[in-house]
Amino acid sequence: MKRIGVLTSGGDAPGMNAAVRAVVRKGIYHDLEVFGIYNGFQGLMEGKIEKMELGSVGDMIQRGGTMLYSARCEEFKTDEGQNKGIEQLKKFEIDGLIVIGGDGSFQGAAKLTAKGFPCIGVPGTIDNDIPGTDYTIGFDTALNTIVEAIDKIRDTATSHERTYVIEVMGRDAGDLALWAGLANGAETVVIPEKDEPFENVVDRLKRGSERGKKHSIIILAEGVGNGMDYGKRIEESTRFETRVTVLGHIQRGGRPTASDRVLASRLAGKAVDLLLEGQGGLMVGIQNNELVHHDIIDILKQPHKLDMSLYQLMNELSI
Ligand code: ATP
Repeated sequence: MKRIGVLTSGGDAPGMNAAVRAVVRKGIYHDLEVFGIYNGFQGLMEGKIEKMELGSVGDMIQRGGTMLYSARCEEFKTDEGQNKGIEQLKKFEIDGLIVIGGDGSFQGAAKLTAKGFPCIGVPGTIDNDIPGTDYTIGFDTALNTIVEAIDKIRDTATSHERTYVIEVMGRDAGDLALWAGLANGAETVVIPEKDEPFENVVDRLKRGSERGKKHSIIILAEGVGNGMDYGKRIEESTRFETRVTVLGHIQRGGRPTASDRVLASRLAGKAVDLLLEGQGGLMVGIQNNELVHHDIIDILKQPHKLDMSLYQLMNELSI
């Protein structure tokens, strides 16, 4: 292994830059030449590839987004697209690739590995929806952004004695909603992993009001449905004045938290180690604070699991 490449793909996540930085610095430390591939798999097919130096990743660890840019690329899902990518890797004499992204990006990494080109996946997505790791890069930052936003919404919810429905991201996973629910002391969290009858949510709101609660906060994971529709149903069923906030893309941006920077550095460093050992077709993760690796194909077959004890605790605390 003499030359390695790194790309970011799928939705951007805070901490991706810290991961790219770690790949470049650790690679160079171990006498590798490191190439940055711009615009994800799209840029790989187009040969948007540049050699990175130590200074290429300077002043980057604290920045959100991704300096390598990201893209979604349908063509790469085809054999032809993957072969174009491999041609470029051969042209630049790159021997191994680190793919930072979500499960879609891992599919791409698995396909390249199956065609004889070793790839290591680094989980970078705010959704925390990748099996085989307790946390993904960006989750902690997005969670903190949500928590800060909801703290502010709570002030106005109290002042006006309103019910708020707050829609948060997470794709099909409820992690962001559930963790925010615990951290914000929300009354209710509605997540795709738990089919809670709508009447239960309404009953809980009514009970809270009878106890003299001045406001209520419902956190709705985007995977459950549209926040606006949900808010309308809540208002119709309770007759409480209800407002809806869809937090949207503010959740994806911003300076990564210390925790995400450290996680990104650790996971990316481990990915370089695996390439140096001549391995491929693996993803790196963190479980019980230990760095681990798993076969990417096995991981892609597994469903995402949410820690349901947190859901139970959330309900016990929001009684
Ligand atoms: P996020 O979780 O943030 O959305 P992601 O990595 O899951 O990130 P996707 O859009 O699903 O995002 O995938 C990113 C890219 O990975 C796709 O645009 C495509 O180029 C590549 N990709 C996805 N699925 C496959 C596949 N089955 N085969 C080859 N490449 C794929």
